[in-house]
Amino acid sequence: MFSKSIEAYNKAKKIIPGGVNSPVRAFRSVNSTPIFFKSGKGSKMNDIDDNEYIDCVGSWGPLIFGHAEKATIDSIIEYSKRGTTYGAPTEIESLMASKIIDMVPSIEKVRMVSSGTEATMSAIRLARGYKRKDLIIKFSGNYHGHFDSFLIRAGSGAMTLGKPDSQGVTDNIARDTLVADFNNIDSVNELFKKNKNKIAAVIIEPIAGNMGLVKPNKNFLNELRVLCDENDTLLIFDEVMSGFRVSKGGAQELYGVKPDLTTLGKIIGGGLPAGAYGGSQEVMDHVAPDGPVYQAGTLSGNPLAMAAGLSVLNRLDDQVYKDLEIISSKIENGINKNIDKTGVSANIARVGSMMTLFFSKKQKIENFSDAQDCNTELYSKYFHYMLKRGIYLPPSQYECMFLSNKIDQKDINNIIESNLDSLKKLN
Ligand SMILES: *Cc1c(COP(=O)(O)O)cnc(C)c1O
Repeated sequence: MFSKSIEAYNKAKKIIPGGVNSPVRAFRSVNSTPIFFKSGKGSKMNDIDDNEYIDCVGSWGPLIFGHAEKATIDSIIEYSKRGTTYGAPTEIESLMASKIIDMVPSIEKVRMVSSGTEATMSAIRLARGYKRKDLIIKFSGNYHGHFDSFLIRAGSGAMTLGKPDSQGVTDNIARDTLVADFNNIDSVNELFKKNKNKIAAVIIEPIAGNMGLVKPNKNFLNELRVLCDENDTLLIFDEVMSGFRVSKGGAQELYGVKPDLTTLGKIIGGGLPAGAYGGSQEVMDHVAPDGPVYQAGTLSGNPLAMAAGLSVLNRLDDQVYKDLEIISSKIENGINKNIDKTGVSANIARVGSMMTLFFSKKQKIENFSDAQDCNTELYSKYFHYMLKRGIYLPPSQYECMFLSNKIDQKDINNIIESNLDSLKKLN
């Protein structure tokens, strides 16, 4: 079933580290080797062995309208005919900025970059420059891209300072990142108390999607907002995943909490590389060339990425989110029934079209340590059963499904039936 992919992987791993350009693609978390893809259309993708899958990953979020969507592709073609980059301003960058400001409640000014990592990296530099403080707080199990300051895990015991979570990250950098527990406001409060007047920013995935989907508990984000205000600290919502995904205005609109800075990525590029960070005019005016915080990019605001992204953003109306909610809730309900029928220890977490099936005895996953209790071996088996039935799921327990609005009733039935079969086999 996978002979060509295996061959392609064996070639690739000789010339690309691990054969992949981003580690999760290597399928290590599901004890396997990667599948190589060649095309996609709507809800489906095809690998180089000509297997077809219903795609429940959507390139980790961007493909809210599915693969090879005509309007997006047309827009890219149209713009590409005029040239691909000028290294100088284009009007479509302002159209993009206006659109983002329209959609995301807290943003008054916005700067485009080329990835989510660049967005979060730039946002914390800005927060540090604006507040003239060095420390930041992040949460265990949250992911903000691969910048050094975020590859930090909690120190042990009484130590509040972070420790490098990757070789090559220096202890000096790790010292400037403090790590709190998601959904635990006391853990944040404690860090503020121990580091009075030193914390520039708190950065959080308001809906955590990088330890599997973990929702914020009622009031957690509100309490965070209050703590940040009391301590003269900026609150950064990393909405690279949740932005434009859970609603037009992202998690901040859904939960009614206003961050000082927002980082965006994934959907914003419509499948091409783009990211953004934005906030109030007052804070954003600290970015160069108006302000003292330097940040730049040769391909920032690239016209093709703007064309693809803007084409998608322009068509994100209420109907899209209604449709996604219907599709996703049907799948959730179907899987929940299957869990009841089979008695497998599992539960599903969902916000809109983001969801995760956790293989855990816990009823609800609320933080990183809950997530670490999951049975990843069971997930790995489940992943392969589903794959054989033509359903492409995230190749890790700790990632979300991202559904597109191209998933039709037939796909939904197929997903639910395959899920039942797979859960039965796990017993
Ligand atoms: C994907 C992701 C990033 C990193 O974005 P890249 O484009 O992969 O650099 C940052 N933050 C969150 C919440 C993400 O999900």
